[in-house]
Amino acid sequence: MPGLDEKLGEIYAEVVGRNPGEAEFHQAVHEVLDCLGPVIAKHPEYADSAVIRRLCEPERQIIFRVPWVDDAGVVRINRGFRVEFNSALGPYKGGLRFHPSVYQGIVKFLGFEQIFKNALTGLPIGGGKGGSDFDPKGRSDGEIMRFCQAFMTELYRHIGEYTDVPAGDIGVGGREIGYLFGQYKRITNRYESGVLTGKGLAWGGSQVRTEATGYGTVFFVEEILKARGDSFEGKQVVVSGSGNVAIYAIEKVQQLGGTVIACSDSGGYVVDEKGIDLDLLKDLKQVRRARIQEYPGERGGVARYVTGRSVWEIPCGIALPCATQNELNGADATSLAGNGCTIVAEGANMPCTPEAVRVFGEAGVTFAPGKAANAGGVATSALEMQQNASRDTWTFDHTEQRLADIMHGIHDRCLATADEYGAPGNYVTGANIAGFSQVADAMLALGV
Ligand code: GLU
Repeated sequence: MPGLDEKLGEIYAEVVGRNPGEAEFHQAVHEVLDCLGPVIAKHPEYADSAVIRRLCEPERQIIFRVPWVDDAGVVRINRGFRVEFNSALGPYKGGLRFHPSVYQGIVKFLGFEQIFKNALTGLPIGGGKGGSDFDPKGRSDGEIMRFCQAFMTELYRHIGEYTDVPAGDIGVGGREIGYLFGQYKRITNRYESGVLTGKGLAWGGSQVRTEATGYGTVFFVEEILKARGDSFEGKQVVVSGSGNVAIYAIEKVQQLGGTVIACSDSGGYVVDEKGIDLDLLKDLKQVRRARIQEYPGERGGVARYVTGRSVWEIPCGIALPCATQNELNGADATSLAGNGCTIVAEGANMPCTPEAVRVFGEAGVTFAPGKAANAGGVATSALEMQQNASRDTWTFDHTEQRLADIMHGIHDRCLATADEYGAPGNYVTGANIAGFSQVADAMLALGV
């Protein structure tokens, strides 16, 4: 990775040294430190009180055993994690990821990103993340329920509406949040709605939370387009993934007049030149929990399925990576830029490699990093917490308007900060410095 200035380079080397083998965490830290040179030059007080060093060390890290019984009666063991990274701005807040790739390094990268993302929303939430190496693929509903109950049997003692408020991430949606909340309520004998977000609408959830990450990412791109005097009308868009983020990104692009011509899952991608049939995609992924491979057959042959290749080879004007970390590399970025793509916005967390981001910069492709572009999910979680705290429920339209306003605010704040630090139009610089400064100021005010 390219060099950092001397003081920041020392901090980075320390982070690598004390967190060996955690490549994703190192990458996330490097990406932020890379932007902070001009900030510490302007604000020596940050260096004096070791704010950056403190920020890079989680306040608390919990690792626990999750024993559960599968449908065959066999006892299984998974590992659970919760990293309570920073609580300067509010209770730790961030999702739970259930995926076989989960280990401490993934949870820490996600928790670290979450600190700055949550700050950018302007709402009072700190940063945290958790999850398990449990693989939900192919598991029955009963197995998912027993796993979630076992997971919460340990986690409950560490969370609370004023302490730490988990939500979903990859592999954790409304069904899992239901089982987790049920177990929390059972163990504590408290209907503490604000302890988890992403709840069902009938039992304390918020309108728009399901849609929020995808919708928010598209609202962010709409702001970029507006600033150019342009809109989604007539734009060809490629989205990776076909989970919760991707599905609602596709929905909002379609509502705003764009055409999403491709999406993917871990097996391959589908191209549908007429535009993705969203009802079919939702039925396949949300109801039947099937593979995207089934899509062309049910679409009557207008679409094609491609496996073993990258979805980023498809020419488009706007690319929305909504699958997972490091899914879009330098070669993908070169191919997107060469095929006329002018905007890339991250719906997933850190889906673009550092090399890809560099290529976008050199090619003049506008790049919106996840901590700004996908902050709509956690922002709407904070709106869910507000509704829970006031024992109220808001309408869909009101909540969606709040989300749109928040995304607009994040967009403008990134641009204003980028301008202030001599990097006009650079959303990475803007997001990292704006998020960092807010957390750093709070940490200074709260003392060591
Ligand atoms: N997992 C989501 C994210 O990456 C949302 C977290 C939340 O709502 O707490 O931001």
